[in-house]
Amino acid sequence: MKTNSSIVVKKFGGTSVGSVERIENVAERVMADQKLGQMPLIVASAMSGETNRLVKMANELDPYYRGPAYDMLLASGEQVSISLLAMALEKRGVKAVPLLAHQVGIQTDTIFSKARIVSIDNKKLLSYCSSGVIPIVAGFQGVTNGNQITTLGRGGSDTTAVAVAAALGAEQCEIYTDVPAVFSADPRLVPKARELKSISFEEMMEMASLGSKVLHFRSVEIAAKYNIKIHLRSSFEKREGTWILPEVQMLENPVVSSVTHDASTVVMKLYPVPEGVGFLSDLFTELAEKNIVVDIITQSLGDRGQRLNFSIHEEDLPQTEIIVKKHVKDASQLEIMRDMSKISVIGVGMKNHPGVAARFFQIFKAQDAKVHLVTTSDIKISAVIDKDNLKRLAEALHKEFDLDA
Ligand code: ASP
Ligand code: MG
Repeated sequence: MKTNSSIVVKKFGGTSVGSVERIENVAERVMADQKLGQMPLIVASAMSGETNRLVKMANELDPYYRGPAYDMLLASGEQVSISLLAMALEKRGVKAVPLLAHQVGIQTDTIFSKARIVSIDNKKLLSYCSSGVIPIVAGFQGVTNGNQITTLGRGGSDTTAVAVAAALGAEQCEIYTDVPAVFSADPRLVPKARELKSISFEEMMEMASLGSKVLHFRSVEIAAKYNIKIHLRSSFEKREGTWILPEVQMLENPVVSSVTHDASTVVMKLYPVPEGVGFLSDLFTELAEKNIVVDIITQSLGDRGQRLNFSIHEEDLPQTEIIVKKHVKDASQLEIMRDMSKISVIGVGMKNHPGVAARFFQIFKAQDAKVHLVTTSDIKISAVIDKDNLKRLAEALHKEFDLDA
């Protein structure tokens, strides 16, 4: 694809547009970049707290409903922030146009509340950019080919931004947020966490899927596929943050580059269930149809039959519970373990270094902490643990793998 190197997609997260004053700050910053010769294109999230407020109202009404009305409700937050941003730029004499997904042509599938982008029409955006108008695209939303509004899943504005960058042939996408960089662990959990100058797509994908909220998983997936560098940086400071790059461009590959966690994991324990793969296939197909990400799966044989355990993200519990209950005969076959967390160590350097699992479990032993489920890949090890043990395990693993600042 032809690259449009002067187009820079700039995504501003909820806190960056969290008040009128902050919106004015974004306008100043974008205006300055335009003066330096960039062709900026903005993607914005809803003002901070807004999407949560909308979700809360929906859940009060009906925690099980996910469909067109839910997505229409959730998508409304971004309409507010992009309009205000456009006004802030226009006030400064900068031409800008706020655009909702249907106006841009951000086409998605029809999985409401977790839709995937199918295509983006770049014509309109390119013509705005080349005529000096700054397009301000609503993040997080899309439109089906039947003209219904969809949303991309919580945190999905990052994905809008990277997908737009890919559609325009841009080389990089800036993600402005309230943290200055990607850290080696969440600093609220591990005070000794340090900033990373760069990290590979692969590691970032693991981080995102293992619970780090810094970037939406699919944004990194798209960036890796189309080779778009992501620059994650603070919207309040001018300095550089973290570059997310192809592995070949990384300066060094530490064995472990980060300790990541997902504080809200739920383990579903089913016992006994019918032996064989028929049951597994039916259950997981139905969960997949609802876009529920099943994380760790284990199965074993007990004296009363097959045992099946799997973990999911807490927000998928209501839907998962409905589906699982349809597949078992009696409620006593299902045990739901709430208050679990998942902790992981990630690093591309692990591929060439044995002994990481040994060091990982030595920490558990030293901390006398229980492991409920475990899974590994060539660049990560994850364990589901009791939420109460999360902080001390995170700190101990961070130290063990030489990440402490
Ligand atoms: N406003 C949406 C959310 O809070 C999308 C985003 O912020 O990326 O999930
Ligand atoms: Mg976000």
